Amino acid sequence: HVRTRFAPSPTGFIHLGNIRSALYPWAFARATGGDFILRIEDTDLERSTQAAVDVILEGMHWLGMDPDEGPFYQMQRMDRYKEVLAQLQAAGHVYPCYMSVVELDALREKQMAAKEKPRYDGTWRPESGKTLPPVPEGVQPVLRFKNPQGGVVAWDDKVKGRIEIRNDELDDLVIARPDGTPTYNFCVVVDDIDMAITHVIRGDDHVNNTPRQINIFRALGKEPPVYAHLPTVLNEQGEKMSKRNGAKPVTQYRDEGFLPDAMVNYLARLGWSHGDDEIFSRAQFIEWFNLDHLGRSAAQFDEAKLRWVNAQHLKAMSDDALAALISPQLVQRGIAPEALDDGRLPRICALFKDRCDTTVALADWALVFYGSTVEPSAEERAQHVTAAIAPALDALAAALEECVWDKASIAATFKQVLTAQGLKMPQLAMPVRVVTVGTAHTPSVDAVLELVGKEKVIERLRNH
Ligand code: GLU
Repeated sequence: HVRTRFAPSPTGFIHLGNIRSALYPWAFARATGGDFILRIEDTDLERSTQAAVDVILEGMHWLGMDPDEGPFYQMQRMDRYKEVLAQLQAAGHVYPCYMSVVELDALREKQMAAKEKPRYDGTWRPESGKTLPPVPEGVQPVLRFKNPQGGVVAWDDKVKGRIEIRNDELDDLVIARPDGTPTYNFCVVVDDIDMAITHVIRGDDHVNNTPRQINIFRALGKEPPVYAHLPTVLNEQGEKMSKRNGAKPVTQYRDEGFLPDAMVNYLARLGWSHGDDEIFSRAQFIEWFNLDHLGRSAAQFDEAKLRWVNAQHLKAMSDDALAALISPQLVQRGIAPEALDDGRLPRICALFKDRCDTTVALADWALVFYGSTVEPSAEERAQHVTAAIAPALDALAAALEECVWDKASIAATFKQVLTAQGLKMPQLAMPVRVVTVGTAHTPSVDAVLELVGKEKVIERLRNH
């Protein structure tokens, strides 16, 4: 039974690079009928915030990636870590180390000077026949893990292939601080054991921790899970995506009008592929997903591509579904909820969805139809709404007074006015769009006028 997890540290607002590390374990659990577990790694008390936890929970909920179990919080599991630490100690895998910070620094400098990799030298590691230094007074020791000596730690990484690390390259890791609190790598292993995680799918910034974690698993008498270390997500400048260089919190994409299914689609392709398929549904993704097609090289975020994917999903939605989706946005922007029940909204969506790449852009259009005024730009007014055209706008307003309000009649009335005024279609259609809808860039003028509504069209034409 597959059990995967996402284990974010709430030390900053999670961005798309982070959430992509949640998407694959989530999809793998869904694809295999397994469980997906959320664990908040909040032991860095100085940098962890509730606001960051909220973005994780909200973002995952928005994207339809709610966990089957959790959130679990590491800070609430301290007693458990200490219990397992005591077991490990009782089994002889742990020893106290009294080396002071000053001594450690001196050791480090000596090693660096000799061009060696800085590592703990095992001074306090007990061995049969070895005499340990005298225990200094008043010093609280750290606890170190007795890493196996000799041999290799190896695993078949689902992304990187076989990895082998020689044990003599790993020094004895500190697993508890002088105050007795367990350190990161130890907590992760206890959690992955207790939560019965079968597949650890995470960013490859953790690949150096893996051999150490595997050794701790074995010392605890457990077999490690399967590992898949995902390559980094780069930002548009080619740097590792991070909030420090401007990555947006994932919830901001929700607020900017991106669709959860489009986000899932886009993120899925940032490090995984299914042939040449670019646009697919959530269900399709889950059906296709496995760990065999995870990419090996870093993927680069591309906002234009994300917008394109979003536009494709938006276009594919039904007009009623889109209307339901943008209604709350319109209410938030001051339109009375009752006004939205007049049947126009799905038709507005039908007319404009091809031109929009976000639901916010679609709501902007809808606002033109439900709002009381339009505000054309000065340039468009100057270009299209000239003094010479003013009489024609008045004539059209007068003619439309008599018009039955449907697209065909509006088109016919329009033609009559063109003939009477001696004008060509664009000469009148452009200024009419500018004054009635606020811009000359719209779908066909009769369709748009019909949806603006008779009263508003006449009023806006008269107030040109
Ligand atoms: N908390 C770690 C992070 O946010 C993830 C640890 C893990 O997945 O093992 O990078």
